[in-house]
This record gives sequence, structure tokens and C-alpha cells, in this order.
Amino acid sequence: MSNAPIPNLTPQGVTQLYNHSSDTNIKPTPTLQIINIKKVSGSASSNANNERYRVVLSDGQCYIQGMLATQINYMITDGTLVENCVVQVMDFITNLVQGRTVVILLNARPKGKQGYKIGNPVDVSTAATAAASSSNKQGNSNYNNTTTNNNNGAKPMYNQQRQQYNNNGNNNRPNNMYARPQAVASNVSPQNRYASNSYNNQNNNSFGGGGGTHTSNPHGNNTLYTPISQLNIYMSKWTIRARVTNKGPIKTWSNAKGEGRLFSLDLLDDSGTDIRATFFKEAVDRFYDLMMLNHVYTISGGKLKVANMQWNTCKSGFEITCDVNTEIHEVKDDGRIQRNVYEFIDDIAALETSCEVNGNADLLAVVKSVGPVGTVTSKRTQQELFKCDLTLVDQSNTSVNLTVWGEEAKTAASKYDRTPIVAVKKVRVSDYGGRSLGTSSGTNIVLDPRGEDVGVQRLETLKSWWRNQGSNVSHSVKSISGSAGGGGRMVSFEDRKPIRAIKDENMGGNSASMDNKPDWLTVKACFTFLKKDKEGGPWYTACGNADEPCKNRPKATMTTEGTWHCDKCNRAMPNCVRRFIFSACITDDTSTSWVSIFNEQAEMLLGEGITADMLYERCFEGSEQEMFESVFNKANFTDWVLKCRVKSEMVGDEQRVKTSVVNLMPVDYVQESRDMLAAINKM
Ligand SMILES: [Zn+2]
Repeated sequence: MSNAPIPNLTPQGVTQLYNHSSDTNIKPTPTLQIINIKKVSGSASSNANNERYRVVLSDGQCYIQGMLATQINYMITDGTLVENCVVQVMDFITNLVQGRTVVILLNARPKGKQGYKIGNPVDVSTAATAAASSSNKQGNSNYNNTTTNNNNGAKPMYNQQRQQYNNNGNNNRPNNMYARPQAVASNVSPQNRYASNSYNNQNNNSFGGGGGTHTSNPHGNNTLYTPISQLNIYMSKWTIRARVTNKGPIKTWSNAKGEGRLFSLDLLDDSGTDIRATFFKEAVDRFYDLMMLNHVYTISGGKLKVANMQWNTCKSGFEITCDVNTEIHEVKDDGRIQRNVYEFIDDIAALETSCEVNGNADLLAVVKSVGPVGTVTSKRTQQELFKCDLTLVDQSNTSVNLTVWGEEAKTAASKYDRTPIVAVKKVRVSDYGGRSLGTSSGTNIVLDPRGEDVGVQRLETLKSWWRNQGSNVSHSVKSISGSAGGGGRMVSFEDRKPIRAIKDENMGGNSASMDNKPDWLTVKACFTFLKKDKEGGPWYTACGNADEPCKNRPKATMTTEGTWHCDKCNRAMPNCVRRFIFSACITDDTSTSWVSIFNEQAEMLLGEGITADMLYERCFEGSEQEMFESVFNKANFTDWVLKCRVKSEMVGDEQRVKTSVVNLMPVDYVQESRDMLAAINKM
């Protein structure tokens, strides 16, 4: 047992899990106690992969039945999860198993071990029964019947359980405390046969009780099909009815195991949730031509797995792998499934203020111009890629660049030359040169979208702005995409400002107001102090994942096992990456200012290929302390042209103006002299 302080359980934490709807993106992450752990693998198989662990999660007030997803079984075998330990639920899904809500724990973080059960929790479903039965009135009669059966079946179980509590008290609970009576035959009705899942076949003993599975279907009229929002990896049989909203090209892959071909589709159903489906090898030949954009199909027999969020932008947390045995039939399009479900941002200006960098956005805009087609060589494949920048504008009088690739780039000039309206779905927002947009495999660009798909009012607003103002050649819009990357374009010599301007012009003052926009300052200045002597070093420990979504940016914290855990990708890695972050003083002939320096800028400032990891290894783990001193001493008192972002931020209760270096260039004295002479001549 550990001597660590008792972690607080999240009040109502179990209720949060119990009431969680798969339609909402934000999942609660309550801290709970595991008050019971039981192995439930069938004795028929000794295969370790079939081992499943049943857990009971408690918030001290209520408890709920749960299963560990097999990928975290190791937390049992390595002793991380033991009875009465406390965990933070990092990811989960809920599953209806014979009318009971069961939490499938996909990921959990250990928070400490307790020697005893906290509180005196009761079954959460009993507390919620009344609320649940009244909220089910939306369904059709079949659905209601099923629900009623389940409730009737569940009640005696509860009574029996209470008796066990009463008889045994709370101490010395027998191991079979949570065992259920042998199941009666499942009454899986034809209406919901497609939603039956593996628990019925394998785990009746574990969950038992009366009643069959049901699929709760808010649309009521479509019970033959499983809503995509309810698919999960624990289902063995399902059929979805969905529209192809995005169809990717056939791609070839090769690795050590061989090579092959694949293509992917995004499928949307009338639950408003989409899911990625990927076809491999022979399934490519069989289905590529059959599956057409915007057509509607029934699909069953694919394999479900947890979605790889690095590539997959669909709402469902799962994705489908299809092989030649997958059954796919085209069905009549009755219009019930939308062409696309958009979650439009307000306008292009909102990209700067209310969109997450590296996130996705949906946007309705006019293609004002199409840039030339260029090529870049992919770092990864060494292949030449075609690219083309579209300039999008809208009624916020703002423009942004959208880069399209491959075939789309080659055909862009003819496709978008008449300033059409486009609805772009899931474009990637980057801070490359201000703000810019890029496409990924999940991006979908619809030319001349229909009002019923994007909203009649929204479309009309844009059209009338374009007609009355936007199309006018003299009408100027503000671009939020710079022409050069690396933290933003440097402004010209004439537009530089002295450090004093931060105070004189009340820079950062805007960001205190609603629009929260920073001010920008380009200044020629000298570093006069580099604050290198921070405890632990002038850096932070970042996630070791160099790919999306982390790209080595989020902070990683050391776990008790000595690995590095990142909250963003929710992974523990053997190593972290150190990234510079420190303060410095800059001075010119008008004033002095503190600035923040981040990794890329610090590496440029220190030069000679020096990285934070290198300094850590040689000067902190190794003994070359003098090297650490000399690297920073050498960089101090050097002249640079700095581009800075000036923004006011709340530090505690206090509003403070913070200046951050986003780009820097060593002063080119020849060019500097020319610029100064030219400026004098103009006087
Ligand atoms: Zn990460």
C-alpha cells in the first residue's frame, strides 16, 4: 500500500459515465475507485487473448459495472490495477448489455492504491431507473417493449443484490459478490437482431439477468440498421445504412510485410455520425467502382477497430476494415441521410480567434482566385507532389489560403476559375504564416453547394455579400495568410518599430478586449540577457510523438514507471523530447523588453545545431557544464531582426502584456546599410 494521500473521487463520477451520450464529443474523465476486479475468460479457452476482466467502478456514492478493454489487460497483470485502487478514467465507451449499461474502460491512469473501499456505493442504475424510463418515450413501440422487458428483468437482480449487501455488510465481501444468476435465453427480437453483440454469445454468465439486447434508436423508424453512433468494437454483427460522403483515391503501400492497395470512404448515416471505412487488396477491386460518392448503401460484415485519429477525421471513435466478404448493397436514396453534416465556423475571421490550430474546420466561402500550380518533394516518400493555393473570401472581409494537392491541384485552375462558392469540410487549420488551410484525406470540397445542405440563410448571406461587395475589384479584404512561413513574414524595413512602441502604442491592449487579437512588432534589437538558469533547464519535456496530433509539442510528464505520458495523445512513451522555452531581455536605443523564446527560435539564436536534448544530455546528464555556459554566453549580445507577438494575458488576477518572439533573422549588415541609406534619401 502506498502512503500517498487519498485521491479525491469525482462526485457523481459514475453518474457521468452512466449518462454519457455517444453523441457528445467531450467525454468525462472522472477519478473513481475500482472496488472489484474479476477475470471472466471462458474456461473453454486457455488463450490469454480471450481473457477479459470485469471491474466495478465506484465514486463512493454509486457504482457501475465495467469491463477492461483487452488492450489494458496488462494493467492487471503488471499489478497497476488492484482491488480498491483509484484511477482516472481517461477513455471509455458505454455498452448496453442485456439492458444494463456497462462501461468499457479503454484507458485509465492509476492515481493511487487504497487499502479499503471508499464510502458505501449503490448501483447507479437503480438511482437512474426512473429518469431512464421516462426519457425512452421517443422510441417506437418495439423499442418500448424491449425496454420494458429489460426493466422487468433487471429488477429482481437488483433486489437480490441488495440482499447480498444486507447479509454480508460491506466488509469481507465474497468474490462472487457481483456474479449474476444464470441467464435466461436472450429474447433477441427481429427488430434488433443486427445489434446483438458478442456478449450475448460469450458472456451470459458474466452479466446474466433477463432481457435481450436492444439498440436504442432515436429515429425509431429504422430499426433494421445500427446507428453509426452506436457501433463499437464489441459488436460482432451489425448493418449500417449510410451515404458515401467522401471517397479517396486508390493508394498503394509497401512495407516489410509486403505491399498492397487500399482506399477509404467516409460513411454518414441518419444518426448524423460518420465513420471511416477502408478497403484492402482484393476488396479494392471488388468495391472501388461500386461505391460511388453520394450514393447510399447497406454495409455489414466489416471489422470494427478503434479509429486512428491521426488520419481519421470522422466523428465515430471507430473505423471499419472491409474485405471481400463484407456485404455491400446499394439502396434507394430516400433523402433521409444528409449529403454532409457541416459544423461551420462563423466566418474566415474566426479562424484567427476561435479555431484551434491543427484542428479541423468547416467553412463556406467564395474561391476568389487560384494560384499557380507548384510542386514540392515529399520528405517521406521523395515523391514530387503538386500543390495549388486557393484564396477563399467571405463576408468577414477576410481571406485565407487553402492549399490543395495532387489531382485537385492540377485541375484547380479550370474547376475554380469562375469564383464559385465552395463548402469545405474538415480542412486543417495551421498557423503557417499566420493562418492557412490545408486538405487531408478527410477533407471534402463541394462546389456550388445546395442551400438544403449548407443552410439557405448562410448561403444567401455569402452570395449577397459577394454580389454587392466582395466581387468588386476595388473591395479590399484582409488576408490572414502570410506569404512566408516559419512564424510569419517579416515586415519591411520601413514598417519596423522600436521597442518603445509596445508601450507607446499600447500594444496587446486589443487582446484585453473581446476580439483577443494580438499586435505584431518587428524590431531590430540586441539580446542583453538570456535566462538560462531555470530549475531543470531552460526547456520543457514534450511528447515523444513526432507525428500528428502532437508533433512533439504538448507537455509530457514522467510517470511512476519512468515513461513519459502525454495528455493530448494519451500515450506513455519511453522517451520525451526537450524543447527550449525561456525568457530573455532585448534592448534597442529606445527601450528594453522581456520576451519569451520558444524552441525553433531558441535553436536559431543558439545556432550550431544545438538542441535542448543535446544540452540536457551533455551538460545535465553529462559533465560539460562549461559548454552550457558558453553556448548561452556566445548568443548573448547579438543583433537580430525579431518578429514579436504582443498580447495581454491574465497572470493570476493581473493583466500583463506578454511579448513572444515568433521569428528572428540575424542582421544582414550590408542590406541593413542599404535600407538605411534609402530611408535617409527619402527624408
Ligand atoms: Zn502526445
